Amino acid sequence: MKIIFATHNQNKLIEIQASLGHAFELVSLSQIGFNEDIVESADSFEGNALIKAKTIFDKYKIPCFADDSGLEVEALNGEPGVYSARYAGEPKDDKQNYEKLLKNLEDNNNRQANFKTVIAFVDKNGHYFFEGQIHGEILIEPKGDNGFGYDPVFQPHGYEKSFAEMTLSEKKEISHRALAFKKFISFLNEK
Ligand code: IMP
Repeated sequence: MKIIFATHNQNKLIEIQASLGHAFELVSLSQIGFNEDIVESADSFEGNALIKAKTIFDKYKIPCFADDSGLEVEALNGEPGVYSARYAGEPKDDKQNYEKLLKNLEDNNNRQANFKTVIAFVDKNGHYFFEGQIHGEILIEPKGDNGFGYDPVFQPHGYEKSFAEMTLSEKKEISHRALAFKKFISFLNEK
C-alpha cells in the first residue's frame, strides 16, 4: 500500500519507513512532484497536520499523513504552540526562539511545559489523529549541544538532563514525536 508522508524531510521518511513492514511504501512530497508550500493557517497542531494531509489526499487520492509539533508552556497560556518554529520571527532561528522564551519566563516560578506531536492521517474513509506528549520543565539556562529547537531549555520530568544533553537514541525512547509515531505505526500495522 502506497502512503504519502506530507513532508520534504527525507530523513524523517526513511526513519518511519524503517519501522513499517514491506506492506507499506512511503513516498515524500518531492517524490510525487509536489513542491508548493502548504499554508499552515490553523491555531492547533491537529488543524495544521490535517490541512497538510488533506490538501495532498484531495489532490492525489492516495492515503496521506502529516505531522505537526511544538512546545506548549503553561505560564504562557500554551505559547509558543503552533508558532514554535518562528516564535522570534523570520527567519526561523532556534537560539533566538529559546532566548525569547527564557526572557518571557524570567522570574516566573511556573516552568511547566510539554512538547506535543499530532499526526493526521487521511484516506477515503476519513481522518484519524495520533498524539504524543512529553511533560517537563523549562530550565533557567540552556544546557547541552545536541538536538534542535528548544531542546537545550527543556528537561523532561524524571530526568536530570535536558533534551539537548541526551543522545538521539535516548531522546527517541521518550519523545513526543516517537510516541505519536508509535501509535500511528501500530494503527497501520493492524490495517
Ligand atoms: P515541526 O512541526 O516538527 O516542524 O516542529 C515545529 C517546531 O517546534 C520546531 O521548529 C521546533 O522549534 C519545535 N519542536 C518540535 N519538536 C521539537 C523537539 O523535539 N525539540 C525541540 N524543539 C522542537
